[in-house]
Amino acid sequence: MTTTDTGLPLFVLGRGTDPHSERGVDCPGDLPPASDPELVARAERAKAALGDRLFVLGHHYQRDEVIRFADVTGDSFKLAREAAARPGAEYIVFCGVHFMAESADILTGDDQKVVLPDMAAGCSMADMATFDQVEEAWDVLADLGLAEVTVPITYMNSSADIKAFCGRNGGAVCTSSNARRALDWAFDQGPEGPDKAAGDRKVLFLPDQHLGRNTAVLEMGFALEDCVVYNPHRPNGGLTEQQLRDAKMILWRGHCSVHGRFSAACVDDVRARIPGVNVLVHPECRHEVVTKADHVGSTEYIIKTLEQAPAGSAWAIGTELNLVKRLAAAHPDKTVTFLDRTVCYCSTMNRIDLPHLVWALESLAEGQVVNQITVDPDTTHWAKIALDRMLALP
Ligand code: SF4
Repeated sequence: MTTTDTGLPLFVLGRGTDPHSERGVDCPGDLPPASDPELVARAERAKAALGDRLFVLGHHYQRDEVIRFADVTGDSFKLAREAAARPGAEYIVFCGVHFMAESADILTGDDQKVVLPDMAAGCSMADMATFDQVEEAWDVLADLGLAEVTVPITYMNSSADIKAFCGRNGGAVCTSSNARRALDWAFDQGPEGPDKAAGDRKVLFLPDQHLGRNTAVLEMGFALEDCVVYNPHRPNGGLTEQQLRDAKMILWRGHCSVHGRFSAACVDDVRARIPGVNVLVHPECRHEVVTKADHVGSTEYIIKTLEQAPAGSAWAIGTELNLVKRLAAAHPDKTVTFLDRTVCYCSTMNRIDLPHLVWALESLAEGQVVNQITVDPDTTHWAKIALDRMLALP
């Protein structure tokens, strides 16, 4: 087996099994051909046959051909909560990626089954922080006596065992909407009250360095020098003892391969092409992009901002292309364009296509549960503690 520089096994997409990775597992059964003109009718029939026993969730970055079958659309956190609010649904079909389906399984009842139509729909960002790597980093901090003043905060876009790690070690989960509040909690209060050497407190932010840096610097007033980047592929994260002691934010060296593509040059280019354009980007974008943008916010914020924008206004959006195309179609009275000239979809989100959805729905209608996502009880317990701390944020 070949190994990538992330330390994870490299599978040809969709083949082989690696339970420790977000990606690369077989899709059992016979998929209908993508050319089948009956696919839409077949999905409708299977959905109707399942009725209220089925609830289909669709992430904003999903393809149009899939999102049309979603009972609700949203970002990862909204979808996990929607799943939890449907205790009567026997089957939750999650059109999104693996970590999202895990969160849905954590938040739903034991009798509910969460299905991911294609197991190869992982997330490259989530893969950038494995449990063993994070444990090793925590040991480094413990050896320096820093673990006891460090609060681990993980972005929703992480595997269940990283969420559980945070739950076990006094930390919490955050989303792009509440990262500021989660960091305030970590620095001001922490899980055990304000007496824990608050002045020395640090945050280990997983796995997206950009969300961590953008939130700390742009929203909380930290300096860039307060942030260090921990590289799990180098001894001690590639940092000196002094750098670790001085840092307020220890950022994991992870990023989103889609949002990480936008550059400062893209912003300059679109401003030159479209005079008066408003640049609106997701906080997973690099710091130099976010600082050049006019507006920064989560996927839900981007959608709301477009809804409230006046007719005739022009917008360049720095987020996943499926969503930008849908926003452009929904707002014909505004100019809505993708921030980059290069087309870029999230390749793993795009793994969920109509043939996979039809196969999953028809299998369920025949009484066969396929591609079920299950999180073990211990991981569920601790991950839920980290999620509940987020839900309790002021
Ligand atoms: S858009 Fe980025 S963070 Fe979201 S699933 Fe794709 S790679 Fe992961």
